[in-house]
Order: sequence, then structure tokens, then C-alpha cells
Amino acid sequence: MPSGKVHLSFELATLPLWTTAGVFLGVGWDELVVFTAAYAGASLLLSPDLDLADSDASRRWGPLRILWWPYTVAFKHRGLSHSLVFGPLTRVLYLGFLAACVWAALYLALGLRVGWRLPPPGPVIAFLIGIYLTNLLHVLLDRLGSAFGRARGRS
Ligand SMILES: [Zn+2]
Repeated sequence: MPSGKVHLSFELATLPLWTTAGVFLGVGWDELVVFTAAYAGASLLLSPDLDLADSDASRRWGPLRILWWPYTVAFKHRGLSHSLVFGPLTRVLYLGFLAACVWAALYLALGLRVGWRLPPPGPVIAFLIGIYLTNLLHVLLDRLGSAFGRARGRS
């Protein structure tokens, strides 16, 4: 199984490849910036290995890593959190739930109103590609590591 450092190194080392491909495909500047931020942010902070109580990804959250404890309880390691489709969705929805709790607390305690509106579709798609691509690379590396380990075990 690849370590968290191997995952992060691989994901960040391939980032220039993806952004260069985006430039050649004519992706707009705004979308490239959002993609790069989402990709780097997901590599650092939204790894599928947040399903482990003690992982590089969870340690990067510092004292806020306690926020991911319910996630580690809800998702077993390499289960739904490592799904190509549902893995990133579980983490984004979980963060959205936490943000909604903070918003509700601010609203109830201080009466603060935080308005929001739907962002344009281009940056939203770029954001989703950024977090889904890091998830795909992570899961592929995990599966390659497992296959390599099994092959070494047989020889
Ligand atoms: Zn993993």
C-alpha cells in the first residue's frame, strides 16, 4: 500500500501535466485556477485516506482533524471513501454539512446572515474535475500497490 507521501508526491508531480493539457485544450483561465486549487487542495486535505484516524491527510488538518473523526467511524478504510464516484462526493457533502452547521450556529448565535448564490457552471465543473482526478489517481495507486503486493507474495 503506497504511503501518504507517495500519494501526495505522485498527485502533485502530475499537476503540471493536467494544467498543461488544460491550456492546450483551450480551458479558460478562471477554470484552470479553480481546477489547480481544487486539485492541490484535494491532494493535501481531501484524500480518500481521511477514512483512517491517523493518516498524513488527517494530520494535515492539524487540530481540526477531530472534525474527520465521524468520517472515520462512518467509512471503513478503502470502502465507500475509495469509490471512484462516491468517494469525493462523501467528503464534499461531509464538508458541506460541517459548513452548514457553522452557518446555522452563526445565524442562531449572532443573527449573521451569509448570503450565497450558485456559481457559474465552468468553475464548478473545474472544481469537480480537480477533486475527482486526485481521487482517481489515489485509488489507482492503491490498487496498483495492492496488486504489486499480491504478485510479490506469490513469487
Ligand atoms: Zn487509500
